[in-house]
Amino acid sequence: LLPVLAHLFLYRKTVSTALPTFLLIGPSGGGKTALLTLAERKAVVPTHTSTSPLAIETQLPEDYTPSSAHYRSAGDPSYERARRLLLLDTPGHGKLRHYATKQLIESKNVRGIIFVVDAASVAEEVGLSEAAEYLHDVLLALQKRYTGAKTSKGPKEIPVLIAANKMDLFTALPPHLVEIQLEKAISEVRKNRAKGLKDSGVALGGEDEELEEEREWLGEGGEGSFKFRQMEEVGTGVIVKAGNVLGADGTDVKGWWEWVADQL
Ligand code: GDP
Repeated sequence: LLPVLAHLFLYRKTVSTALPTFLLIGPSGGGKTALLTLAERKAVVPTHTSTSPLAIETQLPEDYTPSSAHYRSAGDPSYERARRLLLLDTPGHGKLRHYATKQLIESKNVRGIIFVVDAASVAEEVGLSEAAEYLHDVLLALQKRYTGAKTSKGPKEIPVLIAANKMDLFTALPPHLVEIQLEKAISEVRKNRAKGLKDSGVALGGEDEELEEEREWLGEGGEGSFKFRQMEEVGTGVIVKAGNVLGADGTDVKGWWEWVADQL
């Protein structure tokens, strides 16, 4: 009987073991589906606009080493296991965004968020503000998750990679400019949100104290400008790395896989 029980136990363990999950988030058209397809088939095919979330199980490519497996050798089963991960695509479409945020807050296995953004579109006002609003909301959700955690230790940290995609396009902003532009635009978003709330509070005759609680101010640093660095206070490292899923000279997503390897 014992071996049978042991077997059952192991079986249950195997099927219920959730893989480290990375969420692909970002405005529609950024390249999430293309990236997912690349990871899945190791080849690029044209994509349609994503309307439903899609998860795939994949492995870290061979040239990268999971940070948890630096001292293990290839062929060691635990080394191979450490390479497995789940990529979860989320729709970037405005009305479906709540799905992404919900996933993000509820899932226990999220190791990181890959915010995919079209680096050419953030060179323009509309693209920039759309990306900044979305990113603001994602970061605010992470901040709430952190500050609202029941345990004194707080939840496991969830880092964010801003994957500045489409570097093959000559209109694409270089990564340091993507970073600066997004920080500036997020500063605007949080200022406008706070103002909007205040205005509606005045209209309703709300108390100042209540307003203060509801203010949902992203990051530290008072009324000044927002910096991604401020997210470290709430357990979220944010980093921008350039890449391109497609392009005449092929694909270059090395920086992103390196980041994923660091989180594994
Ligand atoms: P999603 O809405 O975020 O899932 O974006 P998609 O993956 O559907 O990509 C939107 C469009 O951008 C598609 O036409 C892709 O072929 C294109 N695309 C994705 N990645 C790149 C890239 O690195 N460079 C270029 N030039 N186009 C890309």
